Amino acid sequence: MTSLFRRRRSEDPKPTPEPAPSGVDCSVPGCRNGDALTCEYRDRRGRMCQAAFCVHHGSVIEGVPYCRRHASTVRAIGPLASDPNGRPDINDRTPSLVNWISRELDAHIRTQLEATAREGESVIADDTVHLSRDTNRNLRWERSWRLVENTGLVLKISINVSEENDALVRINVGSEMVADGIPPWIARRRMGEDVDVAIDVAQRQLFYQYLQESVARAVAEFRGSSNRPHGH
Ligand SMILES: [Zn+2]
Ligand SMILES: [Zn+2]
Repeated sequence: MTSLFRRRRSEDPKPTPEPAPSGVDCSVPGCRNGDALTCEYRDRRGRMCQAAFCVHHGSVIEGVPYCRRHASTVRAIGPLASDPNGRPDINDRTPSLVNWISRELDAHIRTQLEATAREGESVIADDTVHLSRDTNRNLRWERSWRLVENTGLVLKISINVSEENDALVRINVGSEMVADGIPPWIARRRMGEDVDVAIDVAQRQLFYQYLQESVARAVAEFRGSSNRPHGH
């Protein structure tokens, strides 16, 4: 993480000023670093974060310093971050959550789709999270994987979190919602619970296993019934 400033700058064609000693204290409790940079995240309503973090606790993305939370948001939404109206509210963790779950399941979902692909079909996957609407017109953040052929979409899998329930992760395969659940670490945070690392790891594994099995079953069922006409 310490090399992030240097690495980002060398990739950036625009000259970016050297992070000068700012004299601002890092906001992380117990961090004694006094050269913190202010998070420059500004949401679509123009509200700014302005938390200050040192190089170890924040990130610089394309020359712009962010706190850890907003660095994660900016990475999740990718190109949307350059659109001032596309940026989630400063307290919205949903895009990061969708991106986090998507990264964990990416290899599994690709494998499922590639294994089921027929002659002439291929897999296209989103790199970032974007806004869409569910069938009830509610806004949701989602990331998707699509099996396509030259005549169009064969099957779409999406991981999404709706704005009406920002802790509930859903997976859709085609038009069906095949799995939903609140990630264990969020459920615990809501309950104010703390568990040791081994239990945390076991709970996460169970959660991801449930999601993976649901996807695998739904893809198999889709293929089993795909001789019938199907909608998207
Ligand atoms: Zn720090
Ligand atoms: Zn921030």
